[in-house]
Amino acid sequence: MNHKENDLVSPGEILCTYEEYIPSEWTYVEDGYIKASINGRIVIDNEEKTISLSTINPPSSLKVGNHVIGHITEVKQNKALVTIKMIKGLNRELIMGYKGFIHISKANNEFISSLHDMFKIGDIVEAKVLNIYGSEYIDLSTSDEDTGVIKAMCVNCRKFMKLDNDKLVCECGKVDSRNISSNYGGF
Ligand SMILES: [Zn+2]
Repeated sequence: MNHKENDLVSPGEILCTYEEYIPSEWTYVEDGYIKASINGRIVIDNEEKTISLSTINPPSSLKVGNHVIGHITEVKQNKALVTIKMIKGLNRELIMGYKGFIHISKANNEFISSLHDMFKIGDIVEAKVLNIYGSEYIDLSTSDEDTGVIKAMCVNCRKFMKLDNDKLVCECGKVDSRNISSNYGGF
């Protein structure tokens, strides 16, 4: 245990190891540790063996149908992984600890054979929450027109690219394409 009950903690701080308590509200598990996902005070329930955080002004928790903003951390042929940073439209603090994925069948309405041309690591996406199986297992969709990549990171120089008609153009000269949202650049 790195902290005691009632301690104030901030996002990303280690609370305890995964073996000590069951992670509950506003916590998440990373590298075997339970960490804080918001600013709050530690609450321990010794009967239920849970650790959670209490906060005066909690960020809204994620719900099915929410639009979220996050960045792409990994792209596989069938699945793109997203670290979720915030819920769109809610002017609250950033949320942490939520991770989701976009399955190839939910990426776009058209038939696609691979996600490698749709998303690149570092891209910022807006996606709709379809299902929540756990804080690190959230099913996301980018098939609506106003979802998809809202900032594309250049694979050459890692700057964000500008949208020029249907093409993404970088100041380094790279031209590329993505599964672009109609809100491109609007974040
Ligand atoms: Zn570039």
